[in-house]
Amino acid sequence: MILDTGRENARLKERLERIVREKRISHAYLFEGPADIDKEAFARGFIKGVLCPKDLGENCGACSICNKVDHGNHEDVHYFRKDGLSIKDAAIESLQEKIKVRPVGQRNIMVITDSDTMTAKAQNSLLKTLEEPPGDALIILLSENMENLAPTILSRCVKFRIEAQPETTEDDAAEKLIGMALSGCRFHELVHEAGDYVRDREKAWMLLDSMERIYRDLAVEKQDGTCKYSIEDLCRNVDHIEEARLRLKRKMLPEYAMKELLLAMTE
Ligand SMILES: [Zn+2]
Repeated sequence: MILDTGRENARLKERLERIVREKRISHAYLFEGPADIDKEAFARGFIKGVLCPKDLGENCGACSICNKVDHGNHEDVHYFRKDGLSIKDAAIESLQEKIKVRPVGQRNIMVITDSDTMTAKAQNSLLKTLEEPPGDALIILLSENMENLAPTILSRCVKFRIEAQPETTEDDAAEKLIGMALSGCRFHELVHEAGDYVRDREKAWMLLDSMERIYRDLAVEKQDGTCKYSIEDLCRNVDHIEEARLRLKRKMLPEYAMKELLLAMTE
C-alpha cells in the first residue's frame, strides 16, 4: 500500500488539472497533508495550473507567470502565515483587504498556510469571506489536520488529501539504476545514485534481487518485441548480478562487490 501513495498524489494532480481545464474552479480549497509534505509546493503547482496562460490546467513552469508563482512574487498571489503559534485575526483582516483589490491578472489567490492554527476568532472572520468571496477570488487553505477547523469552514471548501510520499524502495532504486545504465550514464553517477545500496550488505542483497527481477522482465518484454535492449545485454547483466551475489557470499565488502557490478553495467 505504501507504494501506492506516490500514485495517489499523481492522481490528485490530474484531478486538479482537469478541474482547471473544465473551468470548474471553486472559490475555496483545502489541502490536508502530513507535516513533512511540502504543501506549499503542492499549492504552487495548482496555482500555476490556474494562472499559466499555456495549457489550461497544466503549467509550463517556464513563463513569467509560472516564474513569479515559483518565486512567491506574483502580484495576485498572497500568503498568510502563522504569527507565533497561530494565525490571528490580523492576518485574516489583511486577507480581506487584499482580496478586494482588483487583480492584475484574472483573479486573486489567497493562500493560508497552517490554516489549522487559526484562532477561533480568525476562523469566524474568514467564514464571512468564504461565504461571499469577491469576483473570481480563490482561497487555498493548507492544513496538517483539518479537524482543528470549524465545520462551517470545512463545508465551504473543496477538500483534498495529499499523501505522504513513500520512501524509495529497492525496486525504485533498481529501476532508476538500470535505466541510467541502459541510457549510458557513467559509473560514478551510478555509484552516487546507489547511495546506501553499495554500503549496506542487507540493502545490497535486496537491490540485487530487484535488479535481477527487472532484467528478467525486460527480457520477457524483449520476446514480445517491446524492449529496445538486446537480449545479450540483458543476460550479461543477469550474469553480473550473480557474480555480485557470489562476492557478497564470500564476504567481500558490499562496497567492492556492488561497485564491480555497477562498473560492469556501464561497460
Ligand atoms: Zn507557465
